[in-house]
Amino acid sequence: MLWEKYDSIILDLDGVVYIGEHAVPHAVESINAVSETIRVTAATNNASREPQVVGEHLRRLGLNIDDSEIVTSAQAGASLLASLLEPKARVLAVGGFGVESALRDVGLHPIRATRDHEANHLLADEVSAVLQGHGQDTSWWDLATAAWAISRGKHWVATNRDLTVPTPYGLGPGNGSLVASLEEVTGVCPLVAGKPQATLFEQTAQRIGSTRPLVIGDRLDTDIDGALAAGMDSLLVLTGVHQLADVAARNPDRRSTYVANDLTCLLSAQAPPSSAVFG
Ligand SMILES: [Mg+2]
Repeated sequence: MLWEKYDSIILDLDGVVYIGEHAVPHAVESINAVSETIRVTAATNNASREPQVVGEHLRRLGLNIDDSEIVTSAQAGASLLASLLEPKARVLAVGGFGVESALRDVGLHPIRATRDHEANHLLADEVSAVLQGHGQDTSWWDLATAAWAISRGKHWVATNRDLTVPTPYGLGPGNGSLVASLEEVTGVCPLVAGKPQATLFEQTAQRIGSTRPLVIGDRLDTDIDGALAAGMDSLLVLTGVHQLADVAARNPDRRSTYVANDLTCLLSAQAPPSSAVFG
């Protein structure tokens, strides 16, 4: 079976295990079957929720996974900032609660913008950096305050650059869309912590001592490019953002190792079609 070639699986979540609140068909039972033998971890670019909240969601869907087996791009971003700043430095948190708690976990001091121009202007001076991740409640006030801080030369780390997020009703704006709007406003580019940089996958593999992981994702520009950057094999499942035509349109050396319709491929005796089928 496909998974037998690997010592662990590193899963993307949105579009692979769930879309919105609901499980992707066949994902939970396939992953649970594999996790009886090898370690399964999750590395998600979605920074809006804390690992324990993500863990509760996954367990509610029936997946056997511990909080310690979940790594978010907010954690990777906060670690990156901790390496640049003094302990307890103040950081403007833009995005969901996961951004704030990741900063706190590495000994930094998260601060939120308010709905007050004057207070936000002072705050932009006061903070040492901005950490920007996905959040459904991100407001104009958050973005304006971040723009002022960035324009004043403060460090700017984006948890990820995903332009879109899958929702049950179609694609919505991802963190990358809001990062791009701040780039337009400030003329500055952020440091990026999550996929497609290798850091998130490398940290995840190190956490469990895996030397031959299989990365599973639904996006070529984040999951598959991240796996390529980390030198890991990858499986693209067609249950989320990218489809077969997107794979075919790519340069052969930028494709995933495997492509499959869904995660039942993990348990099939025959490997799913490799990128070789596209020529
Ligand atoms: Mg995804």
